[in-house]
Amino acid sequence: MELTFPSFDEKKLPDEIKIIRPTNKPQDTVTLDRITGSLIGLAIGDALGASVEFRPQSYLAAYPVTGMMGGGTWGLKAGQWTDDTSMALCLASSLITKKDFNPYDQLVRYKWWYKHGYLSSTGHCFDIGNATRASLEEFYARQMQLKREFGYKTEYEIDQLPLSAIKDAQFNVNCSKNDAAGNGALMRLAPVPLFFYQTPQSAVEFSGQSARLTHGDDVAFDACRYYGALIVAAVNGETKGSLLSNQFYIQHQNWFGSMPLHKEIVDIANGSFKRPGGYGDGIRGKGHIVPALQAALWAFWSTDTFEKGALNAVNLGDDTDTTAAIFGQLAGAHYGYRKIPSIWRETLYANQLIICIAEWIHYLGYPSSQISKTPTLSRRRDRSLSVSSIQSGYRGKSKLKRSHSSDHLEKSKKKSHHNLSRFLTNLVVCGRRSADHN
Ligand SMILES: [Mg+2]
Repeated sequence: MELTFPSFDEKKLPDEIKIIRPTNKPQDTVTLDRITGSLIGLAIGDALGASVEFRPQSYLAAYPVTGMMGGGTWGLKAGQWTDDTSMALCLASSLITKKDFNPYDQLVRYKWWYKHGYLSSTGHCFDIGNATRASLEEFYARQMQLKREFGYKTEYEIDQLPLSAIKDAQFNVNCSKNDAAGNGALMRLAPVPLFFYQTPQSAVEFSGQSARLTHGDDVAFDACRYYGALIVAAVNGETKGSLLSNQFYIQHQNWFGSMPLHKEIVDIANGSFKRPGGYGDGIRGKGHIVPALQAALWAFWSTDTFEKGALNAVNLGDDTDTTAAIFGQLAGAHYGYRKIPSIWRETLYANQLIICIAEWIHYLGYPSSQISKTPTLSRRRDRSLSVSSIQSGYRGKSKLKRSHSSDHLEKSKKKSHHNLSRFLTNLVVCGRRSADHN
């Protein structure tokens, strides 16, 4: 699928993209409900917190958020979302297009969002974290160097390069400084564990790798590995007691390979978020990834519904949208889409697009039969990791092909693949034409 931008008069926003769903009706509707809940939960948390982003807790204690609101920090309409959801949708669009973990393509899509407003709710990138911006600028500089070295004429050609060419060029996709540990790595995570939920070891490893593209600190890598494992467990139907158990890490140790978690994440895994007093007990919705993870888990632990937890996350103040977006990924997977308040689901901007993407993630998700073919996953904290060591080798065989053989299902499968192609064509036509695209 080639990546193209439309001309100005063809520009489409996310809610204008034509929705085309898989033809096949899923047999496992419970898992689909959890996957959809996680992706929608992320976006709803983001939208709930958007109008009060950067407000201190004292402000939210006086004027607590009780539902979707417009205005405020970014002047958005109620239900519109910010960078958290845009980046998550970029990541999801890469996974369903490449049917694989392709870090180069993920970075290309993040760059489109940053430069051209790809999958932004307003058509522009109006907010971006410092570490993410620096990493995407570094990625662009590395791409331009590659363009010069290989004599390509346009940025467009560089964006289209297959992973094999990137691998041959020994292009380093880890574009961050070593000490970047912002919550931006965690806010967009869900598509990775949702796509790889059937192969938990791959899901956990790729969760960490997805962080490293823009956030180079080991603690960001391990925060994403731990949270990715929790999302996988939630999609697989583990109880809330199991997810929140201080034994979760020990009981799922084989998902994490031989590399132990960073001490600060071990503290969280040991239950440091279980503080009944919340903000008064030191829980903070700040921009560093450790307190952000702690705050999201506190919101999940201290409540028994998606609604109460999301509001608790937002009303901590500070980085409200991201704390709630992190919460929403796990809580949405646990409670499921149908348990999220319907008024929030209906108010959410481009909700049908997000649901459709969740359905394609469910349809295409990396099947457990591929686990023996899953690579040589890195067990080292290798900062110079190139794409060659994190290719999964999966080439997108559908689950139906493995479990059904009737003509009817074969036809249905072909129709779904045709639909996927049409949907992906619609999906890439979203954003402004690049000035240097020719
Ligand atoms: Mg945001």
